[in-house]
Amino acid sequence: MPELPEVESVRRGIVRARIREPVTSVWRSKLPLRVGKHWQRKHEQLGILVGAVPGKVRRRGKYLLWHLHADANADDDELVLLIHLGMSGRCGIAQPDQTRVAHTHLVLGFADGRQLRFVDPRRFGGLRAGTLSEIYDRDPIASLGPEPLARSFGGPTLEHSLGRSRRALRDALLDQRAVAGIGNIYAIEACFDAGLHPLLPACRLAPSAWQRLADALVTALRRGIANGGTTLKDFRNVTGKVGRNQDDLRVYGRAGQPCPLCTTPLVAFVHQGRSGVFCRRCQAKPRTRRVA
Ligand SMILES: [Zn+2]
Repeated sequence: MPELPEVESVRRGIVRARIREPVTSVWRSKLPLRVGKHWQRKHEQLGILVGAVPGKVRRRGKYLLWHLHADANADDDELVLLIHLGMSGRCGIAQPDQTRVAHTHLVLGFADGRQLRFVDPRRFGGLRAGTLSEIYDRDPIASLGPEPLARSFGGPTLEHSLGRSRRALRDALLDQRAVAGIGNIYAIEACFDAGLHPLLPACRLAPSAWQRLADALVTALRRGIANGGTTLKDFRNVTGKVGRNQDDLRVYGRAGQPCPLCTTPLVAFVHQGRSGVFCRRCQAKPRTRRVA
């Protein structure tokens, strides 16, 4: 599932494509996408984008936010296209003569002939257009937790969000209201880098451990971005290329292989229906009440 680094790679790809010409057409498949009240078909409003001029491309957590100006001459007339890649969603910039692949659900045509295509075989992705306030002041964006790559992010931010949670650390990190953009891969990697057992109750971490975990998260996310994202199965960037971070993962997907730090075989686990990996030695679960 695309996490922050994968969505950031897509964002950078759209920025690099330098699309400046207005939207001339919107085609949407008849199939429903993501379920949930924020994603109902009537809220998609993709038709309002026709005539709008593409502007900056932002990201918040795992969400892509493409700003467009409804009127090129007015600054305050901003629209936003919200894209959630879900489990298997992809965004590509295509030429009109390129074959439209199966599972294409959105084609935005621009005046220079190029197209933004959203392809999503499993249909857990989501699309919505609206004004700035319709997108930013409402869920899912409004309730997102702090952005881990923001300058203000650190141990105290994480401790404030999760310090009282009794949930397993890995599961707590996946809560988008506590910290935005983290999924299973980067949570597992960060727990390893911080030397913390992924199933330790979050409330048992001392301030020094929160700082170490925050640093480990930032390192894992930045490495993922530098590698163009992690492709385990579906993820592609806007030019159709796979990411390279799967080769750089330290423990995720490597159960049975030697720990990169101590060579003890890494152990797989399943908790709350999600798999994970850890090192019994480097990420031991201490008996003490607080883990420093
Ligand atoms: Zn180890």
